[in-house]
Amino acid sequence: MQIDVIVVGAGPVGLLTAIELSLGGARVLVLERLAAPSLDMKAGGLGPLGLEALERRGMAAAIAAAEARSFAAMAQTGADPRAKGSKYVGHFAGLSLIRKDAQKQPRRRARPVDQQALEAMLAERAQALGIEVRRRCEVTGFDAQADGVEVRWNAPAGPEQHRCSYLVGCDGGRSFVRKRAGFDFPGTEPSSTFYQAVAQIDHPERLAPMGWRRTADGIFSYGPFPGRLVMLEFSGAPADRQAPVTREEIEAVLRRVSGADVRVQALESASRWTDHTRLVDSYRKGRVLLAGDAAHIHTPFGGQGLSLGLVDASNLGWKLAAVIRGEMPASLLDTYTAERRPAAEAVLANTLAQVAIMRPDPQAGAMREMVAKLMQFDDVNRYIGEMTSGLATRYEFGSERNEVGRLIGDQPIHAAGDGDSEHTLYAAMQDGMGVLLDASNSQQTSRLVAAGTQRLRCIAVDSGPSMLIRPDACVAWVGEDDDTDGLEEALRRWFGPVPGDQAAPRSAE
Ligand SMILES: Cc1cc2nc3c(=O)[nH]c(=O)nc-3n(C[C@H](O)[C@H](O)[C@H](O)COP(=O)(O)OP(=O)(O)OC[C@H]3O[C@@H](n4cnc5c(N)ncnc54)[C@H](O)[C@@H]3O)c2cc1C
Repeated sequence: MQIDVIVVGAGPVGLLTAIELSLGGARVLVLERLAAPSLDMKAGGLGPLGLEALERRGMAAAIAAAEARSFAAMAQTGADPRAKGSKYVGHFAGLSLIRKDAQKQPRRRARPVDQQALEAMLAERAQALGIEVRRRCEVTGFDAQADGVEVRWNAPAGPEQHRCSYLVGCDGGRSFVRKRAGFDFPGTEPSSTFYQAVAQIDHPERLAPMGWRRTADGIFSYGPFPGRLVMLEFSGAPADRQAPVTREEIEAVLRRVSGADVRVQALESASRWTDHTRLVDSYRKGRVLLAGDAAHIHTPFGGQGLSLGLVDASNLGWKLAAVIRGEMPASLLDTYTAERRPAAEAVLANTLAQVAIMRPDPQAGAMREMVAKLMQFDDVNRYIGEMTSGLATRYEFGSERNEVGRLIGDQPIHAAGDGDSEHTLYAAMQDGMGVLLDASNSQQTSRLVAAGTQRLRCIAVDSGPSMLIRPDACVAWVGEDDDTDGLEEALRRWFGPVPGDQAAPRSAE
């Protein structure tokens, strides 16, 4: 069996990476140590860029269904934001003040799609594409050489090994791949302990009102799903981070932090985590790459981690597939770190800032008050909203046009000669292709793309501007009217040689 890429980890990031690679024509094997998807409660919501990465690959209906289930669950606690017509779309450090009306693109918002639902839809899509996901296979070693990677794992029937061209570690925050390959992982040590739990409380009304509350002993949030608790204590890292979280521990923390006289009658799920914050120095070492939590860890405040990892997957997948097809040089993979590392740096910085103003001390309280007041200004509110949603992300391509380097949301496209009928951009990207929206009517454009790459769909549109969009929805070039300046260079940079270029032999490394 010929395998181009082994992906370690069938979490959300591993599955999307495999889907992207497969759409790009790479032969992929996913290895996962767990026998079945984890039932631990992790993310309760997903940011717009992560959602869009899935919508571009045919999962819009599954997302809408998962969101409807979440709203139905929230309705049980009276916390369905649609029912209240809430004007808020998110929180910063537990300050639920990010306003819809201050955002430039309010439709591109986080939605309550939980991680289990997300993993289920990704697994279904991977299966439909014929991707092999082998469970109960724990990767235990690998040797990366100049021309490939020899990977070893423990399967139910005993040790196995296989050679592949590239290895992608999507194996979470404690990544074996990251450690074994020797990636530097600098950052800050944990200083606080946080909990997320779903619990049956004897007197939930004593925890009212729902939402984030800062007290003299920490911060806690009850709801919006029945029994959901988030609690933060700032008195040091846990003595034993691996110890199972018990009902007694959750009850004691809840009583301490909330000051309420409540008992935890039963615990459905519980996890403990810290503010341990780290980021790899590079996302690639030769033929070994990292994506998702394997590359960056930080607190989950603002619900940013999953979206960050899914955009990693969407950024890496098509590039690695293009290198494997031999259409692009391996140096394309260096743009993966160049683009994604600054996005992660921004998330790490804002999550550290959130922790700083959640602490119970008076200095943190004074700073928190000031941030709350500043958030009344629309510009500040939008700045924080775009920062935590990821919409502020812009890759540096050296263009003066603001759209270039940004991840574009779905939008209607009016194909030339198609009358009033309307298509959408994402509908044209379901199979992993890039798109050139061509409003120029110019001979030059047809010449460039006619004999060009097979991974680009050229759509003549009624009105401008013209846009070159990569498979990860990143705008790579924009031109007004019949101006095609810079298009040739952008096509060459992201999609390979254009007609007239000498076919340069590509090496895989
Ligand atoms: C309490 C909590 C709340 C959160 N809330 C949010 C939120 O609201 N929004 C948000 O965006 N993010 C949230 N996050 C973050 C989000 O859950 C993570 O960012 C996300 O799970 C990362 O996905 P991943 O695929 O990179 O890693 P993981 O989900 O950790 O998946 C890694 C996979 O690799 C497997 N694996 C590990 N080692 C090996 C090996 N050697 N061999 C084979 N398989 C291996 C593991 O079993 C696992 O299945 C939250 C996290 C926590 C802890």
